[in-house]
Amino acid sequence: MIIADLMTDIVAGVAPEQSLLSAIKLMQEHGCSCVLITEDGAPQGIITERDVVRIFNENITGDQHGDLAVAALQVADVMTREPVCVKQSTSLYDALLLARSRKLRHILVVDDDEKLVGLVTQTDMVNAYVHLIERQVELENLNQQLHLLSNEDALMHIGNRRAMEVELDFTEASAIRYKKYYALALLDVDWFKKYNDHYGHLQGDEALKKLALIIQDNMRDVDRVYRYGGEEILLLMPGSSRADAIVAADRIRHAVEAEKIPHVQSPLSFLTVSVGVAEGSQQSWEEVVSVADTALYRAKEAGRNKVSD
Ligand code: GH3
Ligand code: MG
Ligand code: MG
Repeated sequence: MIIADLMTDIVAGVAPEQSLLSAIKLMQEHGCSCVLITEDGAPQGIITERDVVRIFNENITGDQHGDLAVAALQVADVMTREPVCVKQSTSLYDALLLARSRKLRHILVVDDDEKLVGLVTQTDMVNAYVHLIERQVELENLNQQLHLLSNEDALMHIGNRRAMEVELDFTEASAIRYKKYYALALLDVDWFKKYNDHYGHLQGDEALKKLALIIQDNMRDVDRVYRYGGEEILLLMPGSSRADAIVAADRIRHAVEAEKIPHVQSPLSFLTVSVGVAEGSQQSWEEVVSVADTALYRAKEAGRNKVSD
């Protein structure tokens, strides 16, 4: 099932300079839980019922002054900018993962020209997904079905590869749409085969778990971490430049080194990571990963336990 099967069609968007009160009136008239703000058909922002409650809470002081302040607000003053959008062809599953990982109740739908064409709510998506499972459950195992919705790696408890791809698809589209940039860091454990050979695979697993915790302790809240595969981890840093990312990656590299996890088979005596960093903006995320991968190779060549770009 794709999002086009599920979305509700739009419904005129509101212009940014319109008053907040007129937007609320529109929500009431149409019985909808949000208004969408567009410019030349392209999505610019969203205001949800929750936002309205918050705005009133913040501004209504019980005196005339507060009432006037709310009356003077324009939609552009209060909307959430750069709303999360997907294409009509996005699968239900991918959109649901995105909504869950970003804790969103509404996702906007755009066509190939980036014009707003519809809206899906998380409730619609969950209902449709449950319906799909119900239909399939007689044929297949329920656990297997539910497992599909998992976006976490079972060992490292960070995002799995599937979640990573969904997020990178979204980040790529969003960077192109809103002319933003982001950075990726690809981390690879140094001499990890030797570590497994010497300490055993189970202890290797424990080291990977520990590594995931160290990374999470040393990254910003807005950054996201995924298991790229094996002992390779991808860090996504929205809004970060290459230079920011090098600093962030080096902080993590240093934190791993400082943990001093013994690795007698490594020339460095302890478990370390090498990191390749790249900045993305208007190109495909696969290209950005490939640049980070080349940088990672350079970090390895330069002696490991290094960050390279
Ligand atoms: P380099 O410094 O060049 O990265 O050397 P390396 O030994 O780390 O690289 P290589 O790619 O040769 O080996 C990666 C090792 O990671 C081999 C593989 O068994 C191990 N590995 C991958 N996934 C897991 C896992 O989930 N658990 C454990 N214990 N080991 C894993
Ligand atoms: Mg590797
Ligand atoms: Mg390695």
